[in-house]
Amino acid sequence: EEQQQEEQNKKQNILNNNKSINNKNNNGNNNNSGNKKNDETNPGGIDNINGVPLDDDKLRNLEPVMLERICNEILDKRQEVKWGDIAGLSEVKDQIMEMVVFPIIRPELFKGLRIPPKGLLLFGPPGTGKTMIGKAIATQVKATFFSISASTLTSKWIGEGEKMVRCLFAVARCYLPSVIFIDEIDSLLAARTENENEASRRIKTEFLIQWDGVAGNAEDQMLLIGATNRPDELDEAARRRMTKRLYIPLPDNESRLALVKNLLKNENHEISPDDMQSIASISDGYSGADMKSLSTEAAYQPIRDLRGEIENVEKESIRPICLNDFLLAVKRVKPSVAKKELDAYIEWNEKFGALS
Ligand code: ADP
Repeated sequence: EEQQQEEQNKKQNILNNNKSINNKNNNGNNNNSGNKKNDETNPGGIDNINGVPLDDDKLRNLEPVMLERICNEILDKRQEVKWGDIAGLSEVKDQIMEMVVFPIIRPELFKGLRIPPKGLLLFGPPGTGKTMIGKAIATQVKATFFSISASTLTSKWIGEGEKMVRCLFAVARCYLPSVIFIDEIDSLLAARTENENEASRRIKTEFLIQWDGVAGNAEDQMLLIGATNRPDELDEAARRRMTKRLYIPLPDNESRLALVKNLLKNENHEISPDDMQSIASISDGYSGADMKSLSTEAAYQPIRDLRGEIENVEKESIRPICLNDFLLAVKRVKPSVAKKELDAYIEWNEKFGALS
């Protein structure tokens, strides 16, 4: 019971924190009070970062500048993504609910054999919704969400990447449940190459050490999600730690239809349901991101038709977007993923994926 109470407290704490983060975003000022720190433990003189109090023992030894970076650049200020915003991928969503979301919401049901994995790999072509999935998970479980691209860790803070990794995990441990989302994880955890430099080797090692720490604390509600377009470049040690590996494929016909419908939802258009179906058919091979580019391209056509009249035209007299605009757009916006690349994903999925 005591443990449950503790859990409850933590959750409340995070909710409060998130509230103050949101407040800050809304009104642009940050006068969060209440978590005073004395100068002795807080040489930087700050008592909270973006409304996140810094009064936890575990954070006491971290450098304020690192904390600040984490809170400003890595802590995601939650643009909410709902499951419904993500087109298709129903099987993937089911798996994620069972594996990640329910265990965080109902931890007491997921013990023993049902203990949830600590590492999840989302792999597949670019622009298929991997980042969206990461955000949707965080939104759903009200977890503290840290989002970082691996190239930022390896290149932006030269010489400090290793320290940043340590600091990131320390902060994440303080704000459970937490999700660390690492985009382009292949560049952080690539298989060793001859010209690998010392700095990135050290970051990688630190990362694996920290990760093992997470895995060793089965009860901690902390999850690492890695996303990659190049799963075959991952180090074997990293691959093994991501016990669940989900293939995020290109959208199928039905998903492309849902994408187009959604993209046109608030636009002035005269595209019938049948025409939408045609658009879905002619865009075979397009990713979710490609569908967006395609629709944007189509949406420009009514403006281009104005041929220089744009300065004086009434907004109401701009013609609606039509099927023909999409027919023109498919000639200009090409799918970004080649067939050969797709085969490689499918092959990798068969070898290592969870839904092959
Ligand atoms: P990834 O992380 O796989 O490279 P993202 O999740 O960043 O791709 O998607 C990029 C953009 O493409 C999104 O912001 C969204 O507009 C669109 N998109 C991609 N996949 C989907 C999807 N399944 N449903 C809705 N939108 C999508």
